[in-house]
Amino acid sequence: MFNIERKGSENRVLSYKDQNCVGCGICSEVCPTDSLRLGPTVPIARGLIEMDLVSVNADSCAFCGLCSSACPFGALDLTIDNVSIKELDVYPKWNVECSVNDDMSSGFNHLQKGAS
Ligand code: SF4
Ligand code: SF4
Repeated sequence: MFNIERKGSENRVLSYKDQNCVGCGICSEVCPTDSLRLGPTVPIARGLIEMDLVSVNADSCAFCGLCSSACPFGALDLTIDNVSIKELDVYPKWNVECSVNDDMSSGFNHLQKGAS
């Protein structure tokens, strides 16, 4: 868990909740300043290493909020003057959709029948 802050004409805070993070690494991929690091996910998940899955370099973070917008699990949040950017229309939002491919599903059933 971390909270980093930049004070100025507006106050920006980037917060991270490790309990929401699944270690997908999307945030570190989208960060334009290479400020986020994904730790060794398997040893952390197994409890062999005690550390957060994601760490931040507060010196290089630009408080742009891209990681906050991209995180699918709400583990990262950027606030501007105590308002989450997820509530601001000017920030990008992700539309997530999924569907089941019936062809793939029937093929899988065929394989299962063949195996029995
Ligand atoms: S995008 Fe979110 S869930 Fe994925 S590693 Fe980053 S903080 Fe964790
Ligand atoms: S706020 Fe922007 S610069 Fe800072 S860690 Fe997130 S994506 Fe990187």
